Amino acid sequence: MADPTVPADSTSSYPLSALADKLFERMGVDGVYARTAIYVDLLERLEHYITRQRDRNAEVMRFPPVMSRGQLEKSGYLKSFPNLLGCVCALHGTEASIRSAVELAESGGNWTALLSSSDLVLSPAACYPLYPIVAQRGPLPRGGLTFDIEADVFRHEPSLSLDRLQSFRMREFVRVGVPDEIVEFRETWMARAPVLAAELALPHTLEIANDPFFGRVGQVMAVSQRQQELKFELLIPYYPHAAPTACMSFNYHREHFGQTWGIRDERGGVAHTSCIAFGIDRLAVALFANHGLNFKNWPSVARQALAL
Ligand code: ATP
Ligand code: ZN
Ligand code: MG
Repeated sequence: MADPTVPADSTSSYPLSALADKLFERMGVDGVYARTAIYVDLLERLEHYITRQRDRNAEVMRFPPVMSRGQLEKSGYLKSFPNLLGCVCALHGTEASIRSAVELAESGGNWTALLSSSDLVLSPAACYPLYPIVAQRGPLPRGGLTFDIEADVFRHEPSLSLDRLQSFRMREFVRVGVPDEIVEFRETWMARAPVLAAELALPHTLEIANDPFFGRVGQVMAVSQRQQELKFELLIPYYPHAAPTACMSFNYHREHFGQTWGIRDERGGVAHTSCIAFGIDRLAVALFANHGLNFKNWPSVARQALAL
């Protein structure tokens, strides 16, 4: 997997580089990888394991890696994380203007200057497209709604670290309902997550967290998010004494999405929402990093949980 864009020694000191060679094939850009057979095998088992944990009445939905640019703008994403967003651009215009871009490319010119944005962005999290769909259905039924959703998402944060990809899989359990239901949902999952981590034989801690809001104004938003305890993370170290990696997050959005999309709860109030996010790639790498590449040597609890 030699890659001319990455200096030969740039990852050699990285503790997980040997693992990376077995799990991923480089694709020429940092943080973007092809998954190998052993990785995909584990990924599918992990997905099944998570499926077994979902609420019985959860509605399953799977999203493509793109979503409406207008919907993401309306969600307030640009205010909080403009630096992470990837926007889909295309060559619009007449045949002649598109051909001139191709000719520019062929002569080594900067053809991308002729691109303009389309009505799509790369989804930065699985749950953004869900709220407008829920809103379209009208007021929530009694007991609210629960979803099991997933998408391959994009964040513009190029890195050589195996735990910070630009394109990664995010599975979420999302709850929409009256405030009490939402608070209870998140608390239930915060109590269950350490049990799941123990079943996977992964060392872990659960800690209060904040989103990486952009810029100086973002720091104020981060402080407020912590004060209100709106985000927690399940942290897992990849190897002994490593700084732990956030592999799951437990988010309480309060009325943000209900207000934005006009979602009414069963009492006519503004619906509250919460999402439990599984960083599928981070969990998969955490499993290999902690237990090695030979499934036969994995702790028996983990083998049982993953049907290995
Ligand atoms: P971090 O602070 O580590 O960047 P985050 O707060 O941005 O994480 P969330 O927005 O809560 O993460 O995303 C949900 C989950 O998706 C995270 O708990 C993590 O498991 C996973 N995740 C987030 N960013 C990445 C990434 N760059 N590569 C792989 N997985 C990621
Ligand atoms: Zn979410
Ligand atoms: Mg992040």
